[in-house]
Amino acid sequence: MNIELKQILDSGKADFEAIANDIWDHPETRYKESYASSLQEHFMEQHGFTVEKGIGGIATAFKAVSGSGKPVIGFLGEFDALPGLSQTADQPSYAPLSEGAPGHGCGHNLLGTGCMEAACTIATYLKRHHLPGTVIYFGCPAEESGAGKAFMVREGCFDGVDFALAWHPSPHNALMSHSLANVRIIFSFHGKSAHAAGAPQSGRSALDACELTNVGVQYLREHVISSARMHSAYLNAGGDAPNVIPAEASILYALRAPKQSQVKELIERVSDVARGAALMTGTKVDIKVVSAYADTVSVPAMNQLMLAEMHDVLPLDYTEEELAYARQFADPELLKEGAPVIDSTVTDDDSHDGGGSTDVGDVSWIVPTGGVSITTMANGTPGHSWCLTAQGKSSIAHKGMHAAALVLAEAAEKLFTDSELGAEIKADFVKVKGHEKYEKLLPDSAKPGDF
Ligand SMILES: [Zn+2]
Repeated sequence: MNIELKQILDSGKADFEAIANDIWDHPETRYKESYASSLQEHFMEQHGFTVEKGIGGIATAFKAVSGSGKPVIGFLGEFDALPGLSQTADQPSYAPLSEGAPGHGCGHNLLGTGCMEAACTIATYLKRHHLPGTVIYFGCPAEESGAGKAFMVREGCFDGVDFALAWHPSPHNALMSHSLANVRIIFSFHGKSAHAAGAPQSGRSALDACELTNVGVQYLREHVISSARMHSAYLNAGGDAPNVIPAEASILYALRAPKQSQVKELIERVSDVARGAALMTGTKVDIKVVSAYADTVSVPAMNQLMLAEMHDVLPLDYTEEELAYARQFADPELLKEGAPVIDSTVTDDDSHDGGGSTDVGDVSWIVPTGGVSITTMANGTPGHSWCLTAQGKSSIAHKGMHAAALVLAEAAEKLFTDSELGAEIKADFVKVKGHEKYEKLLPDSAKPGDF
């Protein structure tokens, strides 16, 4: 372990715990993270970083820069909350602080703050040793549903960055799992309203068009790759009057597949289904891609580095109080099978597929990216749940955040000081991508915050 990095990190722990708690106390959903981004911007300025606000044309996106020269290492921070996941801290039964309000059910209060802690730690280290290199902390909004980093990539925010580092709070210690490419499309149907009983022949139902789209997609499932995922939610079900033929209705689709090229094909095929539904119902359809996520490029040499640093820092020790706390939240089925209450081992297998999507994927196509999942919660805590929100201010969460920051800071130290390692990772990055390109799934017309 790099004792000096650990000492630098240990001296500032309390500040970062306070920031993570403050963001937990002020949950903000995608593109509305003004409290969190201001708090972090202010802290980074105080810490000697030069802060550029509103990058990529996004009000809550920013970068904080320290040092100069090559290499340039970017830390990918997030701070958005999820709608409807409000929960009282440390409560193991459902008890929202405010019914229907957002909450940090994905742990991004820890995610962004831990990345900031890593950036501050390595920046101090570089200064002390008069080492060249640039540290950038990226405040990245709207990871949840808004694909903030995909827009930031489109606007060139990560150009010139040599390596990117990221982590995610988790019930396990492992390399960040492979994520699926994902696109969100809104199909808005426009028909004609009429008295549903008196003059149905005059009406054209937008709701029927949505329903026929769903039926068509059910039949489509049999004829797409088995790893494709197609899910929908009504945005407008046409109102609440059964005696009025709905003139307007819209439905949101999330289409996922392992590769961007496969998602591109799904977009075309599902759009054809929607066009067919419009034709069948005599309605018109507007098709709008509102956000898109790339799959992640996994670079073996980078993964080796991240795994080595995880083994260096982990496992952590937990007190009896922490184990008792976690037992209230852990999945009883897992415990019955003999699984630990807090999983502090490091999983070496780097092939597992998380099934979800992240906009870290977009950055990973432009910049070689290392990512880890670090334990911050009880074993079996479901992702995107109030149960996860509840544990976001615990000592287990804080311990995990500091461990993640140390893993990232140590990896950065190697990348700053070992140019051969850097060259090996860059060569691996080119090799792994092969002929695959970063697909332009986001149309130019899509704007951050449209959705
Ligand atoms: Zn997340």
